[in-house]
Formats: sequence, C-alpha cells, structure tokens
Amino acid sequence: MKKSFRKWFLHPGDKSENMYPALMDKAVGLIADQTVRTNQPFSGASRQDIEPAVREMLTIPAAGQKTDMVMEEIQNVIVKNSLWVSHPSAMAHLHCPPLIPSLAAEVIINALNQSLDSWDQSPAATYVETEFIKFFTKHIGYSGEADGVFTTGGTQSNYMGLLLARNKACQAHFSVHVQEEGLPAEAGRLRILCSEHAHFTVQKSAAQLGLGTNAVIKVATNDKNQLYLQDAKEKIGHLRQQGFLPFMIVATAGTTDFGSVDCLKDIAELAAEEQLWFHIDAAYGGALLFSHQYSGLIRGLHLADSLTIDFHKLYYQSISCGAFFVKDKQDFQQIAFHADYLNPEEDQEDGVINLVEKSTQTTKRFDALKLLMTFKLMGTDLFGEMVDYTINLAKETAKLLKNEPCFEVLNEPELNAIVFRYVPLHEHRDEKYVDEMNLELQRAFYQSGQLIMAKTKQAGKVYLKFTMLNPLNTLSHMQTNIKRIKEAGEKIEKEQGENRYGYSVRC
Ligand SMILES: *Cc1c(COP(=O)(O)O)cnc(C)c1O
Repeated sequence: MKKSFRKWFLHPGDKSENMYPALMDKAVGLIADQTVRTNQPFSGASRQDIEPAVREMLTIPAAGQKTDMVMEEIQNVIVKNSLWVSHPSAMAHLHCPPLIPSLAAEVIINALNQSLDSWDQSPAATYVETEFIKFFTKHIGYSGEADGVFTTGGTQSNYMGLLLARNKACQAHFSVHVQEEGLPAEAGRLRILCSEHAHFTVQKSAAQLGLGTNAVIKVATNDKNQLYLQDAKEKIGHLRQQGFLPFMIVATAGTTDFGSVDCLKDIAELAAEEQLWFHIDAAYGGALLFSHQYSGLIRGLHLADSLTIDFHKLYYQSISCGAFFVKDKQDFQQIAFHADYLNPEEDQEDGVINLVEKSTQTTKRFDALKLLMTFKLMGTDLFGEMVDYTINLAKETAKLLKNEPCFEVLNEPELNAIVFRYVPLHEHRDEKYVDEMNLELQRAFYQSGQLIMAKTKQAGKVYLKFTMLNPLNTLSHMQTNIKRIKEAGEKIEKEQGENRYGYSVRC
C-alpha cells in the first residue's frame, strides 16, 4: 500500500521515481505548444461551449487516469479556452503578461512550499522577503523606520491600510483598543476621503471593517482625473461641521481606468494639516519607481503613512504578488497577535522574525522570490525601460485615436491606459445608441477572440479601454487594431439601417 504513494511526492535522497521532472516537462510542454499555436488572445469559444466541457472534465474518477489523457484534456478544455494574457491584443484589464523569470520562480516557490508566517517554516525565505521590503522602502524614499509585508495584491493592501488607520483612529479619538474591545458606537462618525476614481476596494474595505460604505466620501476630480484638492478641503470642513470625524485620505497613484496620478505632495500636506492618515494606492503606478522617464510622476510616495504596490500588474509578476508598506513600523502593532505555536513572545525577544505579525494572512506564499529572480536576471535598468516603452506606446496610440474623427479619447495617458469610444459620425445619433454600439464592439471583438478590450463607464456613458501593459506591443500593431475597430464600427452603422438597435456584427 505504502509503495503506491511513493511516486507522488518529492523524495529526500533520490529522484522521486522521475515523476517530478516528467510531469513538469509535460506541463511546460503544454504551455510551449500553446504559445506556438496561439495567434490570437482568445479562442472565441462561448460560455455555452466552455461550461459543459469543464463540467464533463470534472467527473472525478475513483482510480487515477493516464497522464497523457489528463494532460490532453487540460490542454483542450482549459488551456485552449483561457485568455492568453501574453498576447499583445489582450488589452482589457490590469492583467499582465508574466515575465519568464517569474514563471521559473514559481516552480521553485511551489516545490519548496515555504510558508512565510513563521521563521521556522521559511528560514531563508523570511529574510528574502524582509530584505526585499527594505530594498523597496529605500527606493520609495522611506526612512529606516518604514516596514512592509508581501500581500496577495491591492485588495489586501488597501484593506490593511484602512484597518491600521481605523484602529489607530479609534485609539486616538475614542481611547478604544479595537483589537480587544471591538468598534465603539462613535466609530459611526469616522469618515474616509478618496477621489471618485479611487479603486472600489476602499469602499469594500470600509464595508468589511464595520465602517460602512457611507463612511467613504468621494472627492471630485479635476480635468486630469486627479483628486481635486479644493473639493477635499471643503468636504472635510463640511464633515467636521456636521460632527463627523474625517480620519483618513486615500490618494491613487495610477487610477484603474485612466492611470491618473493624484498630486501626492499636496494631499500629503492636507493630510498633515488635518491630521488624517495618508494612504496611497499605487497598485498600478508603483512600477514607476524604476522608470527612467516618468518616476517624477510618483514623487512623494514616501509621504504616505501606508502604501499599496502591486507586483502582478505593471511589475509583470504572475498572480498573486503585491506588497503593503508603512512609514512607521510601530503601526503594525495595530494588528499584532501572538500565537504560542507560531510566534511566541520569546521569539520576539530573541530577534526571530515571524512575518505573521505584519499580515492579515497566516500561511503565506514566498512571492518575493519572483521579484528577486526578475530583478537579478533582468536588472532594474531594463525593467525601467520596459515600463517606459509601454507608456510611450500608449501616448502614441492615443494620438492615433485622436487623429480619427470617429473616436473620442477621454484621457491623455499618464500611464498606459487609454479610455475612448467609437462615435458614429452620422447625424441622428443619440447617447443610448453610442453606448450600445460600444458595448457591441467590445463584445464582438471578445467573441471573435482577436482583440480583448475592456468596457467602462464614465459620467454614465460607455467607453472602451486599452490597458497597454504588454511590452511586445507595437505602434503598427495598434494601427491595425484601431483600423479593425473603425471598420467594425462602420459596419455596424451600415447594417443597423432601419432596425436601429437590432444590429449584429462579426469582426
Ligand atoms: C488592481 C487595483 C487594486 C486591486 O488590486 P488586486 O491586486 O486586484 O487585489 C487596487 N487599486 C488599484 C488602483 C488597482 O488598480
């Protein structure tokens, strides 16, 4: 009986009956095959095709099946019907093509399976994360008092920012230690400010943290889609007059739709004057730290009391990978717990590092290795050039779109996102028609599998979005894409004829 388990595990002291290299080879081969085969970002399969195929595949047998059969099924049902994010025409979301060093690091991460909650489960990995956090705090411009921790991404990092700020505010204003006593009734007066373009996880976190979404006050934005400082000042004044307690302001360095960067220094000043916790959500824009041309855009990151940076977006790491930073490491005390089996207090006295104290997670991935391998192999110079290339390409693409009368471009790209829409040129158009047309363009291209764009809404109107993360993209490729959208738009206009909303289009 025992023997039949053997080949399924890595063996200390021998070659694990070769299942490890053999199965890894097959997995790598499957991806390599798909890379050769894929000339568009999506198969174009419909939900009606994919769901039953997956359901059928999920009849789980009592006895294991042959490797080749299972791998073939995985290839046909899953790999072929996955969004191929490494294709330059996959341009919908902040969803990056992963760098190959990150993929290789995952192999090591998975096999070592270190858990970075306590030092005894990750003796070297704990220090890799710790030193990487130091490397970043230095680049951010923080003092030696700063600290941070790897997270699963921007959602967790923003949540942690709100959590620390909430606990600190309750201590300062109500002398309540939330960790022990829970939220006091007065917490209903707490208010958080952020721009109307801030990420929805600010509200989601407020909801989860017992403050409620009503605690988040949306500040208007200026014509560059940045938080409008004057409106923030006025809103703070009004809130105080009404007896509310503004305790936190969230700036965004790279909004999800526009890639706009708030004026970090001005907001930092306001936060200091008004004694607000200052959080910066740089999930997207944090990659500018290594940019040669555009690092000036995010000057002031070090002014944040807490800071979110994602590595699975413009740092090109495989999912998941992100970090959360604080200007003053003492602030992690707001969430510290001691578990006797993981991080007993005597460990702290002995100087043992147990990262669980800084995280909302317990078992925690060794994601820092991905960045380590990426930066060691690639160097920060080339990395920075790559980020700059994508931003410059987005700026050039925006110009191309603006030169076409049938497109309306909503933003001057600061990072690499462009929000635009197709506008029919004929006279009897109305907003509903334009909205439906753009929705149809997005849907039709998705279904064709050729071009994956996002749709978004601004001021109640539907827009399309290119998020141009892929450094393999080129201007001539974008010319082709724009031409395709234009032609598809014209075709819809022609076809719609009398039956105004009953069009359909194939791209
Ligand atoms: C993507 C994003 C988030 C959420 O991050 P996840 O990594 O998806 O959890 C938060 N803020 C901004 C600005 C983002 O772009």
